[in-house]
Amino acid sequence: MSVSKLSKEQFGQFVDAMLAADRKVIGVVAKDDRFQFDELQSASALRLDYDVTILPPKKYVLPQIEPLLQFEVGGGAQSVMNYEPMILLGVHPYDLVAIRQMDELFSQGEYDKHYMDRRKQITIIACDIARPSKNIFASSMETAVVSDGYDILITDIGDAYLLDVATEKGHALMSYAKALAPAAAADIEKRQAIQEANRTGLNKHKLACKPSYLPKLMEKAYNHPVWLEKARLCFSCGSCNQVCPTCYCFDVQDQVNWDLKTGQRVRCWDGCLLENFATVAGDHNFRKDRASRFRHRLYRKAKYVPEKIGGQIACVGCGRCITACVADIANPVTIYNRLMEEQNLG
Ligand code: SF4
Ligand code: SF4
Repeated sequence: MSVSKLSKEQFGQFVDAMLAADRKVIGVVAKDDRFQFDELQSASALRLDYDVTILPPKKYVLPQIEPLLQFEVGGGAQSVMNYEPMILLGVHPYDLVAIRQMDELFSQGEYDKHYMDRRKQITIIACDIARPSKNIFASSMETAVVSDGYDILITDIGDAYLLDVATEKGHALMSYAKALAPAAAADIEKRQAIQEANRTGLNKHKLACKPSYLPKLMEKAYNHPVWLEKARLCFSCGSCNQVCPTCYCFDVQDQVNWDLKTGQRVRCWDGCLLENFATVAGDHNFRKDRASRFRHRLYRKAKYVPEKIGGQIACVGCGRCITACVADIANPVTIYNRLMEEQNLG
């Protein structure tokens, strides 16, 4: 709706004012030589110059372990639905695209009230990428820059931040900002230059086709030898699932307390690369071999999820799986490009 400017000192004061007002702010902080989203205690800890976080901000949108209901023998069950307001500060565009995809997936068909009620409490302050990570390929996936989906978008233009306030939630937060000035035409030009550079330059791995071609490519590749070749090296550790901003599969478990009368039902992250992911009643596992699990992850990203959400590819090019995979086989670009080269051999 409008673009404003704050000096870096004023921006720190803006964040500290939110914290002083007891707003829960989740921001990016350093963890040794890497970065993570964590609850902020002070603006001084915020690192908007980060390259990539170890885990994506999905851990706040879809927590690793989430109570769904509490039960008591003879006393019935009550849903757990008390979600507190939260500000997610510093979300990179590719992670924002992933959250937008989850918003669609959890609200269509079976409306997921737990996810959606929590999501409505979250205000997202996105942040243009200031430093590329070693494995990013967001430019290939067309997720390096966003024009919507955030409440506020901030861009580091050197001596100041520009704040693009897009929603009522975003405007409400601006009451914490002092000395807010409208961005000058020269500032907007700087922002455009940064975004244009990111649109094409965040590409440590280059996809050999447009992402929109991937569902078509996958139609031909189901029996390609690459799945078996790569899967021979796979440890089934599930790290590629856990670090992925678009992986949202979960398991539901009942946990009974020591009193054997009360307990809770929780959902927790699951991963399609894990050996027991597809185990069902009777101990039947319909994806028992590693190759079928390895293939499934790539098909889910490039074919199955796009079929549900209007063609959007469920890989946003963050590169986290490439970094996390100890066997060095998880890079989606390597696999898609190989299939492109050999697309008549599948
Ligand atoms: S598949 Fe890998 S690169 Fe793509 S979004 Fe998931 S973690 Fe990021
Ligand atoms: S991170 Fe690598 S080794 Fe682990 S499950 Fe994924 S592909 Fe296999």
